[in-house]
Amino acid sequence: MFNWFRNRRRKMILRQPWSSSWESILKANVGHYKGLSTVEKNKLQAITRIITAEKHWEAHDGLEMSDEIKVTIAGTAALLLLGVNDFYFEHVNTIIVFPDPVRRQSQGGLIVGRESRHAGEAWQNGQVVLSWRDVVSDSRNPFDGRNLVIHEFAHCLDGLDGEMGGSLTFGDTATTQRWHRVCESEFETLVRATERRQKTLLDYYGATNQAEFFAVASETFFEKPRQLKEEHAELFELLAKYYRLDPGKWG
Ligand SMILES: [Zn+2]
Repeated sequence: MFNWFRNRRRKMILRQPWSSSWESILKANVGHYKGLSTVEKNKLQAITRIITAEKHWEAHDGLEMSDEIKVTIAGTAALLLLGVNDFYFEHVNTIIVFPDPVRRQSQGGLIVGRESRHAGEAWQNGQVVLSWRDVVSDSRNPFDGRNLVIHEFAHCLDGLDGEMGGSLTFGDTATTQRWHRVCESEFETLVRATERRQKTLLDYYGATNQAEFFAVASETFFEKPRQLKEEHAELFELLAKYYRLDPGKWG
């Protein structure tokens, strides 16, 4: 019954005309948007509207919640869902936004602690915490390999099996096993390169553990797809299977 009401409400949300101010927000703040095809843009708009409407949004420390914040975050998270249908991060219920990175104690969540600051967190209980400053600067630049929203929402996808541990489930056992093998070996390679301070395409933060490896690999997949395909072909291929899309085709 709940699904029936939810689907009916979604249909009503999508029946509203697309807002030109939301279009301007996507154009200004979601760097990937302009490279998408018309079909993909329409799908991203629909996902953005549903995520914006269905999540509980909170702003803290003097930040005021606005359409710009919601549409930028929802529109960036929507990139991860362009290859799938009828899924809108239902297990994420609250998005909490701070003006800047915050210092917090980790108690079971996954925290982005680059440069000893906490720009974002994703929690198994359905909360995502983000620094607005990092959201905007990362989302506006689609090619630098860093994207906080993609990072945190990749953790959320990873948590769908009940644990944010980097172990993904594919449609068939053989591919799931292949992911475990490739992820393990790519993770070990990144750990060794990080220890030697070698230059790597994947950010060193991915060497923290396998959950961070998947989140960082997702950032690279969406922001440097061609380089990832060239240098880590099997990892790219599996991520393209997982997300069911190829960001290398985006302009
Ligand atoms: Zn993380």
